[in-house]
This record gives sequence, structure tokens and C-alpha cells, in this order.
Amino acid sequence: MSEDALDAASLPRMDDIVSLCARRGFIWQSSEIYGGINGFWDYGPLGVELKNNLKALWWQKVVRERDDVEGIDSSIIAHPRTWEASGHVEHFSDPLVDCRACKKRMRADQLDDAGPCPARQGSSEHDWTPARNFNLMLKTFVGAQEDQAAVAFLRAETCQSIFLDFKRVRESARQKIPFGIAQIGKAFRNEINPRNFTFRSREFEQAELEFFVHPSEREQWFEHWLEQRVAFHRALGFGDDRLRVRPHRPDELAHYAKAAADIEFRFPFGWQEIEGVHDRGDWDLRRHGEFSGKELAVTDEDTKERYVPMVIETSVGVDRTCLALLCNAYEEEKLPDGETRTVLRLPFAVAPIQVAVLPLSKKLAEPAERLVRDLRRRFAVFYDEAGNIGRRYRRQDEVGTPLCVTVDFETEADGKVTVRERDSMQQERVPVDGVRGHLQDRLEGSR
Ligand code: ATP
Repeated sequence: MSEDALDAASLPRMDDIVSLCARRGFIWQSSEIYGGINGFWDYGPLGVELKNNLKALWWQKVVRERDDVEGIDSSIIAHPRTWEASGHVEHFSDPLVDCRACKKRMRADQLDDAGPCPARQGSSEHDWTPARNFNLMLKTFVGAQEDQAAVAFLRAETCQSIFLDFKRVRESARQKIPFGIAQIGKAFRNEINPRNFTFRSREFEQAELEFFVHPSEREQWFEHWLEQRVAFHRALGFGDDRLRVRPHRPDELAHYAKAAADIEFRFPFGWQEIEGVHDRGDWDLRRHGEFSGKELAVTDEDTKERYVPMVIETSVGVDRTCLALLCNAYEEEKLPDGETRTVLRLPFAVAPIQVAVLPLSKKLAEPAERLVRDLRRRFAVFYDEAGNIGRRYRRQDEVGTPLCVTVDFETEADGKVTVRERDSMQQERVPVDGVRGHLQDRLEGSR
């Protein structure tokens, strides 16, 4: 076997991840009881915790820890002219083909995934129509009239309203160039072939930053943000074998872009983009300036130079990163006793449950619940008093809980509990009062 194939063999199978996600309440198909709706997903009790933790980490790193970034939360539907100015109405499309024989509809640049045609006599080849452009924006109507004047779009990316709000944020937050505006929110694309679980869906979340700089500083800020974003993914536990940066070739760049790089993760279905870092030039502010008639230039207070700032963008898919976290964490580990345990090695900072408190017997519920009440003020705690302790540990391993605390019959006498660590399965006795500090150390160490 080649080194690459050996390497690929160590990746988890998507089927196992999809099945664990549904079974344990992370993610499942939306509208399941109606047979599902293609390209839409629901996050369950554990999935929403994972996703919220990831978003909070991003917000902490990109917004709160910096003086030069402000956050916003804009509406999903913007003035329709927004999408004319941004170029989406004209250009945001994929090439679409249909098979005349079996009616399969595909993106023309993804025909390798179409499989054989089931409907042609004497051939398994599809009979594709010529490609035509299919606009990916989802449309709706605003107001009581359903005519052309009432058409609006669900945003295809979160960043456009950042440009619309640029002047307002700069003035209200009293920011000067260079500074950035960040937003996390839903985006919608009518993808022709949603696939690979949540990787390509029709409704998804993005976390985007638009950082506004003087034209002379665009290269250095592009490098800065690329470095910051790679460091973020590294801190999520993505090693060299699973994470890489792929700079765009000049012929891949948008006509207005000067530089771009994808941050890619190695999924079980191959290397794929999870984040894009782009130098968008002054395209967006200029276009919105032209279309709205409101100039979006700034004046340098010292030099009096008037200019339209350049934009460095970082755009990460929250769902894709959650999926990368799950793929990176999933392992079926062979144990010395011959058994196999499924374990999700999620970092402490994003784990849906950070600690499970497990009294050995229902009779120990009272001291265990006291501990739970104390820990809940700061951590995500799960309490479970039923069943065999080994099985309870395994259930926590499977959902990625880094620590389990067991209250036993000696606790009352020696004031100690057993802390079991998910990855090493090692156990140590810790004073009850020390559990909080132990968890705090883990939290700080995992970022
Ligand atoms: P792709 O080439 O995979 O369609 P893109 O280059 O169009 O992606 P961008 O427009 O740069 O993607 O969007 C930024 C980020 O938003 C992507 O890196 C990805 O994480 C996320 N994203 C884009 N489209 C989808 C989708 N259909 N489902 C889930 N996440 C998406």
C-alpha cells in the first residue's frame, strides 16, 4: 500500500460519523419524519453545544481579544440592490447539466460523482445537456405582493451587510483604519448537489471578518490574518496531516482579488476547503458606494489623504469546521483487553459536555448533586446515576466528554472523588474542592 493509501486508511468512515451524530444527538437530517429535505440539517442537544462553543471561541479570538475588531449581527434579508452591487445577481451561479435519459441533475464540474446512468439501453454513460448557468441565491418575496418588485434574496454570504454597515460601525465605534468588522450568521445557497453530510448544504453558518486597511498595507494584513486563522485551526487540534494552506493560482482569483488562500482539512472524502482568506481589494466598498450613491471612502486624519480602504476577508464555515472537528476526533480504539471503544477526542473548549458526574450508587446522589450544582455555574456538566459504571464511561467517551468524576462510598470519609480522563482512561483521586480548579486548568490548557 502506498503511504498515502495507508494514511487514508487511518481516516474514519463517514458512515460511522453520520450514524454516531444521529444516534447520540449531534446532527441529523432536517424534517426527518417527512423523509428529510435535501441539504438541510438539524443540530441536536449535543450538536448545538459543539457549534455554540466553536462560535464562542471564534468570537473570543477574532472580536473580544482585539481592540481593532467590532462585531455586528445584521438582518438575513438585505435591500435587493445589495446583491446587484456585489455581483451575485449576475455572477453567483454554477454550471448545471441534466441527463436526458435518467433526469439526474449535476454540477457540470462535478460529473465524476454522478455514477452510471441507470436508464440508457446498452450504455451506462449519461446523456448530458449543454451546461447552463444556475443562480445559487434563494429567493423570497417581502410584503403582501408577490411580484417582481417584491423579490428579495436570502443572503448567500454574511459579509455583504458588513460593507453596508461599514460607515455606521466606524463612526459609532470610533474606529480608524486599520480595523475590522465581524459577524456570525446563517447563509443560504441553492446548491445543485448538496452532499458529504453537512459539508455542502443549502443553509449553513459562516463566521466572517472584513478587515479594512490602507492600500499600502494589504500584503502584511493578508499574511497576518492567514497566520491567525491557521493558528486557530491548529488550536482545535488539527495537525499537519489534516490541515494545509492552498494559495490560489492567479487564474483562480476573482477579477478584483489580489491574493487568496484556502485553509483545507483532510476529510474522509478528501482535502476540502473549510475557510477562505481573501484580499478583496476595494471592490465591495466601491461597488456599494456606486450603487447606493453614498461614498464609502475615508480621510486619513494626519495626511488628509482620501481613499477607499482595501479589504482582507477571512470566511470560515461553522458547519464545515464542526464536521472537521468530529472527523478529527473520531476513533475506534483497540484496547489491550481486545475490546474496541469509540471515542471522540474533542478539545475541552468545544466539547458539548466537559465533565460528567457519576455517583457509583443512587445512594450517593446527594453529594454528587452538590458537586454538580457547583460545577454548573462555570462548566457544561452532565449527571447520570443509572447503570454500570463502565458503560457510563463508554457513553461519555463516545460523545467526547474529556473528564468523568465518580463519587463513591469513600468520598464522605476522605473528601475525594475519582477523576477519569477520556483519552488515557487514567484515574486519579482528587479532593472534591479541587475539581473546579482541575477543570479550569483543562479549559485554559486546551486553547
Ligand atoms: P465551495 O467552493 O466549497 O463551494 P466557496 O469557495 O464557494 O466554497 P466561500 O464563498 O469562500 O466558499 O465561503 C466561505 C466558507 O463558507 C467556505 O470556506 C465554507 O466553509 C463555507 N461554505 C460555503 N458554501 C457552503 C455550503 N454550501 N455548505 C456549508 N458551508 C459552506
